[in-house]
Amino acid sequence: MGTPICLVGIGKIALDQHVPAIANSDDWTLGATVSRSGTVDGVPAFTDFDQMLAERPDIPVISLCLPPVPRFDYARKAILAGRHVMLEKPPGATLAEVHALTNMAQAAGVTLFATWHSRMAAGVAHAKAWLNDKTIAKTHITWKEDVRRWHPGQNWVFEPGGMGVFDPGINALSILTEILPTPIHLQNATLEFPSNCDTPIAARLDWTGNVTADFDWRQEGPQSWNIDVETSDGRLALRDGGARLLIDENEIDVGPNREYPALYERMAKLVRDGSSDVDLAPMIHVADALTLGKRVTVDEFHF
Ligand code: NAP
Repeated sequence: MGTPICLVGIGKIALDQHVPAIANSDDWTLGATVSRSGTVDGVPAFTDFDQMLAERPDIPVISLCLPPVPRFDYARKAILAGRHVMLEKPPGATLAEVHALTNMAQAAGVTLFATWHSRMAAGVAHAKAWLNDKTIAKTHITWKEDVRRWHPGQNWVFEPGGMGVFDPGINALSILTEILPTPIHLQNATLEFPSNCDTPIAARLDWTGNVTADFDWRQEGPQSWNIDVETSDGRLALRDGGARLLIDENEIDVGPNREYPALYERMAKLVRDGSSDVDLAPMIHVADALTLGKRVTVDEFHF
């Protein structure tokens, strides 16, 4: 029986990934949930977070699966109640609030883990190792998916702080910032905002180092989560969000893709070691795009 953990925000990602990852883990047991409407069979369910914190001092770890805007208040309360905290990606609605959480966690002596599930995709560590001693000529990201298919009815993605197409795009940026041997910074961006939305539905990005990206949430038919890197010693391709790796068109055996089990293993290690892991590099690129980007208005969007 593992350490009890509480999942907060029983929505799409909690049910798709967190619940099965915890159920199959030797490190963790799902001890409680907090959600206004969602529950998990057989698990004590709270609708009020303060009540859960007060009534379940036996639960030392809280995993927050809420959208980014409401997440800060829950994380702050959890840290102040002396609990270790795992944050879904993106770790917050703003950089400053995540810095604040980092300081609070340090002062409270608890673990804060800002997770990036795509970094745990099976091909990413191999890609990073292969690129480490290469001279990179060009990198291009193609991250095109259908928002209606992956976020049905989730209006928060188009509200302030929802990040729009950067909600999936930040997954690509979490891989990019992990595998590139040298840092880059954004030079140009064009962001397409539907006339009725507060966040972009598409973005074209251009960084130093000849790195470019094309994010689009209007992709019907085949979906693309690709990163292509040209080097002096050959071509690397990550496919399916980093689950597959090809070098010069040859598929490399990278093993099974187990992003969320790997995140929960890492959380167990961080808690054991008394350390935290908060890397804001992917979110800095999003903030830069929203600061620097040319805004173009496009057709209204409705789910
Ligand atoms: P979601 O289903 O729309 O929301 C998750 C849950 O959060 C909801 O069920 C809701 O539960 C709660 N919630 C929503 N707004 C709230 C508010 N204002 N105050 C308190 N609780 C609120 O979203 P999701 O797709 O699971 O995404 C959640 C996070 O996971 C996001 O940061 C997203 O980027 C990340 N993520 C999503 C996916 C995916 O495929 N969807 C993949 C990886 C990561 P109640 O209403 O029952 O309280």
